[in-house]
Amino acid sequence: MNENLYSLLSARFPEDLSQCFIETADAATYSYNDLIDHSGRFARLLSDLGVKKGDRVAVQVEKSPEAIFIYLGCLRIGAIYLPLNTAYKESEVAYFLGDAEPTVVVCRPASEAAMGKIAKGAGVAELLTLGQERDGTLIERSNGLDPDVGCVEAGKDEVAAILYTSGTTGRSKGAMLSHGNLGSNTETLHKLWGFQPDDVLLHALPIFHTHGLFVATNCVLLNGGRMLFLNKFDADKMIELMPRASIMMGVPTFYTRLLADDRFTKDLCANMRLFISGSAPLLEETFQQFQARTGHTILERYGMTETNMNTSNPLEGERRAGTVGFPLPDVEVRIADDDGKTLTTNETGVLEVKGPNVFQGYWRMPEKTAAEFRPDGFFITGDVAKIDERGYVHIVGRAKDLIITGGFNVYPKEIELCVDAVEGVGESAVIGLPHPDFGEAVVAVVTRTSENGLDAQSVINAVKDDLANFKVPKKVVFLEELPRNTMGKVQKNVLRETYKDSFQA
Ligand code: AMP
Repeated sequence: MNENLYSLLSARFPEDLSQCFIETADAATYSYNDLIDHSGRFARLLSDLGVKKGDRVAVQVEKSPEAIFIYLGCLRIGAIYLPLNTAYKESEVAYFLGDAEPTVVVCRPASEAAMGKIAKGAGVAELLTLGQERDGTLIERSNGLDPDVGCVEAGKDEVAAILYTSGTTGRSKGAMLSHGNLGSNTETLHKLWGFQPDDVLLHALPIFHTHGLFVATNCVLLNGGRMLFLNKFDADKMIELMPRASIMMGVPTFYTRLLADDRFTKDLCANMRLFISGSAPLLEETFQQFQARTGHTILERYGMTETNMNTSNPLEGERRAGTVGFPLPDVEVRIADDDGKTLTTNETGVLEVKGPNVFQGYWRMPEKTAAEFRPDGFFITGDVAKIDERGYVHIVGRAKDLIITGGFNVYPKEIELCVDAVEGVGESAVIGLPHPDFGEAVVAVVTRTSENGLDAQSVINAVKDDLANFKVPKKVVFLEELPRNTMGKVQKNVLRETYKDSFQA
C-alpha cells in the first residue's frame, strides 16, 4: 500500500472534482481539479529541475492557494517540503538553507535578489519565485507542463516535511515529520472532530506552521471539503465570511480579537458547528466570554510541531476551560519527573508522549534527538502539565521557557544572544509577559556595562535587523543586576512576577 500522504488524501477527494477546494477572500475559487493540475505541474517542474525523492524544497512565500499546491506537489514526488516563516530575516534563512541543503528554494518575488545571494552561498541549485497574485517563475515555468505525475510510493516512516522549531540553545532544529505522522494525525482528528461532508473551514492561520498547514488544511483535504481562505487574520473579512463557514481553527488571539468586535454576535455564528483553539493557552476568561457571547464552547486542543496534535477536548461531552482535554485515541500521554519516573493524578511534571504522531527526529541532530526521547520511545515535550482525576490534561507551564507571542514561538536564548552582543549591554534575560493582544510579549531585562546611557530604543534598533519582528523585544527594562538563585541561575519567575502588569490596560 502506498502510504504517501497525498495518496491518503487524494483517495478522499470528492467524486466530482469540479467541487470547490479553496475560495479566497476576493472570491477566486480553486476546485479539486485545479489542485490536481497545479500540484502536478509544480511537481513536474521540480522533477525537471532535478528534485528527487528525499530532496528538500524550501519555501518562504506569502500565503496563497499556490503555496498549498507546491506543498502537495512536493508530496507527490516524495520531495521533503520545508516551509519557512515569512517573518524570518536573511541571516535566519541563511542558517536554514545551510542546514537543510535544499535543491530548490521558492521565495517571494520581492526577495529574489537577496535570496539569490543566500541560496548561492548555500549551494542551492535553483531559485523560483511565487507571489500572491498568481505570479512568479514557479507559475510561469510550470505553465504547459504535463501535470500527470501520479504519486510516488512512500513508506509511513519516510519524511514528508521538515518544520524548524527554535532551539533552546539558540540553534533551530528541523523536526522531520513523516507521511505516517501526518496521515495518522489527520485521520484521528478528522474523525474525533466529526467532520461532515458539507463542512466549510474558515482558514486565517499561517501555512508555514503545523496548525494552519497540517491540522487545518489536511483535515479539509481528507474531508474532500472546502475552505474559505484568508491571507491573514482580518476581523472585517472574518465577520463577512463567518456566516458561510461551519468550522474555525484559531490561535487564542483570534478569539480575543473577535470578542473585541461588537459585530461578532450569536447570529453571526448561526451556521457554525465548531470553534477550535490551540498553539497557545486559551485564557479561561476568553473561553467564558465566548460562551456567553455566542453560545458556542471553544474546543481546545494541544500539540506541537514535533508531535502534531496530542490531546483534545471532546466533541461530545464536557469541554473544560483551562484544559486541553484527553489524549487522542492513538496517542499515549504521561506525566513524568525529571528522571523519567511516571507521576500520578494531579501531580505536576513534564508531559511525555508516544504514538504514530510523534516525529522521526531532528534533521541531522541524532544526539539532540536521542536526548529528547526516553528509552521506551516516549518523547519529552518540555511542557509542564498534570492530568486531573477525570483524565483532562492541564498544561501549566513550559519547562523550556518558551514564549508564545501571537501564536509564534520564541525561545529566549536566541534573543538573549542577540541582545548580549549589543554594545553597552552586560547581560540579559528575555521573558514573556502577559499581553492583551499577543498573549505574551517578548521583554528583555538588561544590565548595562557602565553608566553608558544605553536606552531601550538603542537595544531594539541594534537587534531588529537580525530578528523576525515577532522576536524583537516589545519592551526593554534596565536593572543593576539580574536576580539569581543560589545555583547562579537567573530567576526568570521573579522577573515575570515583578513585571507581569507591564502591558495590562
Ligand atoms: P509549536 O511547535 O509552534 O506548535 O508550539 C508548541 C508549543 O505550544 C507546545 O509545546 C506548548 O507549549 C504550546 N501549546 C500548544 N497548544 C497549546 C495549548 N492548547 N495550551 C497551552 N500550550 C499550548
